[in-house]
Amino acid sequence: MQVFKFGGASVNDAEGVKNLASVLQKLGYTNTLVVVSAMGKTTNALELVITNYFDHKTKLQSSIQDVIKFHNAILIDLFDNENHVVFQKISEFFNELNWFLRTNKSPDYNFVYDQVIGFGELISTTIISEYLNTIGLKNNWIDVRDYIKTDSYYRSANVNWEKTQNQITTNYKKSILNITQGFLSSDANNFTTTLGREGSDYTAAIFAYCLNANSVTIWKDVPGVLNADPRYFENARLLNKISYREAIELAFYGASVIHPKTLQPLQRKEIPLFVKSFLNPEDSGTRIGKEVVLEPMIPCFIVKKNQVLIRLSSLDFSYIVEENISEIFNLLHLYKMKVDVIQNSAISFSVCIDNIYNNLEKLLHHLKAKFKVTCYENVSLYTIRHYNEKAITQIEAGKTVLLKQLTPKTVQVVTK
Ligand code: ADP
Ligand code: ASP
Ligand code: MG
Repeated sequence: MQVFKFGGASVNDAEGVKNLASVLQKLGYTNTLVVVSAMGKTTNALELVITNYFDHKTKLQSSIQDVIKFHNAILIDLFDNENHVVFQKISEFFNELNWFLRTNKSPDYNFVYDQVIGFGELISTTIISEYLNTIGLKNNWIDVRDYIKTDSYYRSANVNWEKTQNQITTNYKKSILNITQGFLSSDANNFTTTLGREGSDYTAAIFAYCLNANSVTIWKDVPGVLNADPRYFENARLLNKISYREAIELAFYGASVIHPKTLQPLQRKEIPLFVKSFLNPEDSGTRIGKEVVLEPMIPCFIVKKNQVLIRLSSLDFSYIVEENISEIFNLLHLYKMKVDVIQNSAISFSVCIDNIYNNLEKLLHHLKAKFKVTCYENVSLYTIRHYNEKAITQIEAGKTVLLKQLTPKTVQVVTK
């Protein structure tokens, strides 16, 4: 049994959907689960719908129309017969979305986010499943929310493994081709929850784990995992083999090519993860498994843009001690800040954070009551695994270094 995951970039137009079909035809599709993300940048477009729902009601309908138009263009390209049932199905999803936005009473942003954002994947999988059926690749569309069960921590839900394993064991039919949504799940009340942005890789891993799959393949617009993000680094090189441990480190530091939670379930059952190009499906790509740490053994670069560096010192020049640090971490936790790097000296404490939940102002307000605070917004965090002098020089050239931290295998540099 194999699990395939196709991300948004692989299905951002009709050609992408046709290409997905051709990958399945080339590689075989019995005993296969296909996990699909929302098409193209649909998740971002739905985030705009959510923002408009809360803050700019006058723009709400036009932002929904943009999502409708984008999908209609794909539908028209894929289906000649305008009476095809898929048109009806997609229009029902948009009716449901509008109905939710009209009748919702919850002021909880995170709850509303998950109820709205899920339409991206429900729609993409419906289009793809119907298209595959039409061209003779018979498949079964399944609603992932009947399988992956979580708590109610909206936008970053935690999997209830026992319930999920149970649902999958009881209801999943292995021998056929199944198509389902990445990223989505549901809580005990059957409200939609999500696994965090880019969470579809994790969905693939959850199924693979529960089904004891032989492999997971993530299909990308790159040849595999490279030693740097090709959008920011020229001459990025393909990594042929990576150990689970090394891949977990890379994902942890922010290599956005794999969702960080994906690897642990796979490692537990030693299920190999392949990252391959959807344009060249027969190329070997990257294999993540248990044998080799890194092949080739070269420096790997990870950049996280738009981070925040906060430097704290005590108001009375006293030392920053355990009590202060515990207080600082309580606040970081309270405001859901993702901590990238920390560094402390006798009288100052620095922390580089990712302000995912937009709580920076509240955090700073709270901190300023207790500490002298210097805050740098919009900084970049560079991490180099298996660094050498040349790699560090390359990163620092022409930038102001605000913080630097070295361990034997990893260097992290925060720059402005
Ligand atoms: P998906 O459609 O599966 O969600 P993403 O766009 O999230 O795909 O991820 C693919 C992109 O990740 C690539 O186009 C590339 O720009 C970027 N990327 C970042 N880091 C790496 C890396 N180390 N190796 C390969 N691609 C990377
Ligand atoms: N569609 C979601 C996102 O864009 C999940 C994913 O693509 O993995 O974040
Ligand atoms: Mg993605």
